[in-house]
Amino acid sequence: MSTIAFIGLGNMGRPMVGYLLKAGHQLRIYARRPEVFQGEAKHLIDAGAIACASPAEAAQGADYIITNVMGPQDVAQVLHLTPDSVIQSAKPGAICIDHSTIDPQSTKDIAAVMATKGIGYVDAPVSGGVKAATEGSLVMMLGGTDTDVAKVKEIVKNYTKTMTHIGGVGHGQVAKLCNQIAQVINIQGVAESLRFAAVNGADLQKVFEAISGGMAGSRMLDLMGPKMVARDFKAGIEARLHAKDFFLVKDVAKDAGIDMPALQTVASQLGKLMDAGWGHDDTSSLLRVLEA
Ligand code: NAD
Repeated sequence: MSTIAFIGLGNMGRPMVGYLLKAGHQLRIYARRPEVFQGEAKHLIDAGAIACASPAEAAQGADYIITNVMGPQDVAQVLHLTPDSVIQSAKPGAICIDHSTIDPQSTKDIAAVMATKGIGYVDAPVSGGVKAATEGSLVMMLGGTDTDVAKVKEIVKNYTKTMTHIGGVGHGQVAKLCNQIAQVINIQGVAESLRFAAVNGADLQKVFEAISGGMAGSRMLDLMGPKMVARDFKAGIEARLHAKDFFLVKDVAKDAGIDMPALQTVASQLGKLMDAGWGHDDTSSLLRVLEA
């Protein structure tokens, strides 16, 4: 059994900690808002996790340091940028595992800083959302050395359904951003399709049923179609996360000098969605952006 520091007890992090505790690991957990130890994360403390006052305290003696925070700046902050960050106390030979979705270059930069202290790094972003995190059936894309990834798989297998080692550090994030591009452009397609049905006076439910069995059928149509038909915009996947990821991809595409016209359009629609204040609602709200 290992000692694991876990940083970021949000919607994705909490169920993961639960699975690690169940597997018998010792957990040292840090939350930016310590009040969560008396609230959403109290059950984790009751189950034996140790509450820590800083990322540095959580990392003390840890074999693995798992981050599940938000963007690239947040990962850098908790791992090495601040005086109470992980790098101040982590032991050489420890391995950082990042489940946040961030960009590949920031990942490589952060890993290089951690390597100066002999700390390994595996980027391990996930797909499947809160539902899969709760069910322990996440899809994971890993980037790192063969040796580090093999060790990390033994830890993260507790909450994943599939684990694919894509390549070196940063390549897990490349795969995750590919996942986001294909997924959210598909959601935009579903929204445009149902908007088209509505303005032509067709029954949305019947259109959805017909096309989901045809060549337009897809996981995203199955997931988002019924929500859009029912105008149920309660978050399954919070749109703010997709917006963050699309803005990351836009920057990567710009740096790489590649043309991604659908990505540009959807990024602009997600920007309007955020401006409308729907960031905590579901990404099916892309339909509402078209209507507005
Ligand atoms: P969340 O907002 O519920 O939780 C994020 C947590 O990180 C919060 O507890 C917040 O306090 C903490 N945090 C953020 N910045 C921090 C900082 N600088 N220092 C310390 N703590 C910080 O978000 P979530 O849904 O758990 O998502 C976490 C990550 O996982 C994101 O990168 C997201 O894109 C990715 N992700 C989310 C989903 C999903 O469906 N929710 C799916 C796949 C991947």
